[in-house]
Amino acid sequence: MTSSTGILEGKRILVAGVTMDSSIGFAAAKYAQEQGATVLISNFGRALGITRRIAKRLPTEPPVLELDVTDDDHLAGLADQVREHVDGLDGVVHSIAFGNPETLLGGKFLTGPWPDVAQAVQVSAYSLKSLTEACRPLMSSGGSVVGLTFDATVAWPAYDWMGVAKAALESTSRYLARDLGPEGIRVNLVSAGPLKTLAAKAIPGFEDLETMWSGRAPLGWDNTDQEPTAKAVCALLSDLFPATTGEIVHVDGGLHAMGA
Ligand code: NAP
Repeated sequence: MTSSTGILEGKRILVAGVTMDSSIGFAAAKYAQEQGATVLISNFGRALGITRRIAKRLPTEPPVLELDVTDDDHLAGLADQVREHVDGLDGVVHSIAFGNPETLLGGKFLTGPWPDVAQAVQVSAYSLKSLTEACRPLMSSGGSVVGLTFDATVAWPAYDWMGVAKAALESTSRYLARDLGPEGIRVNLVSAGPLKTLAAKAIPGFEDLETMWSGRAPLGWDNTDQEPTAKAVCALLSDLFPATTGEIVHVDGGLHAMGA
């Protein structure tokens, strides 16, 4: 499909949380550009240099912004950073999560210490609110915010406190949908099956979940293919879901709907 017929033609999109070309955010940025969007990407700290190199692998090299979602100064300066490149935003992708794998994940549920849990919840859930608030002045004529979750309605092996953080993220998206709907800002999540990214590789035991998934999902599941997830993110960013907010779209091969 050429950009002239893309579902995101003319849209200005910020994708927060791109480190590698395996990042879900990278796949979302790529598909968004292919669908006609002008894309900006962001990351934080030491990985920013990697993001700048990886950005060159996108169809069009996007501006790379610095954004640590726990840094109030970064959040306060985000709108000005964005305005150096585009005059507003139509969409924001929140593709950010962190939980200390040493203390919180891979069977550490009963011993996870509160300061690390607090950090996981701040980076992975509260930040959906922080990022959306920081971008709100740029979406004065409405917009679409899309985040990424891993089904938090049940307990999984290995996922532990990140599962709790995802439950908080899912709830946060519903409250944001409530408060920002009157401004024409939609807030939705994509619930993806396991994908081989940096974040997933850091979770001890997550690969067992990946193996189980491909066997149980009725459509099957390729944990190296970020594109189905990226396509759903872009569909929610587009005008194709004008009356949908507070929703969670599963892109998991259908596993969430199976009882056994
Ligand atoms: P990823 O490539 O590691 O992306 C996570 C991003 O979050 C990284 O760019 C990371 O930066 C960034 N980040 C961490 N702390 C941050 C902070 N304080 N401020 C700003 N950015 C920060 O892994 P991913 O799998 O694509 O994850 C993207 C999203 O998809 C996450 O919400 C994840 O939970 C979700 N998800 C993943 C899967 C899966 O199986 N992979 C399944 C369902 C949902 P650094 O690399 O510099 O730390």
